[in-house]
Amino acid sequence: MLKFIVIGLALFIVYKLFMGDKRKREMEQDKTTEKKVASGELVKDPVCGTYVNKGGDIRVKNGEKIHVFCSYDCRDKFLKQLEAEDVTPEE
Ligand SMILES: [Zn+2]
Repeated sequence: MLKFIVIGLALFIVYKLFMGDKRKREMEQDKTTEKKVASGELVKDPVCGTYVNKGGDIRVKNGEKIHVFCSYDCRDKFLKQLEAEDVTPEE
């Protein structure tokens, strides 16, 4: 009976270690993203909110602003939004 308790405890410790490690890694990744955003290396995809490299290929120039997208899908959605805004009648 004691054997089972020891095995159970060991599994529990391994599980705890694994979960803690995973959380730590996620937090570190978050920090790296924050740093890159702060330094301007990463910009936010205005459609889905994903952070993408500033030098990404999928980009749209809208006036003075340059938007970078994670995928062509997002870019297309953004272009459609722009078109929709253009045809909105003036108040
Ligand atoms: Zn996107």
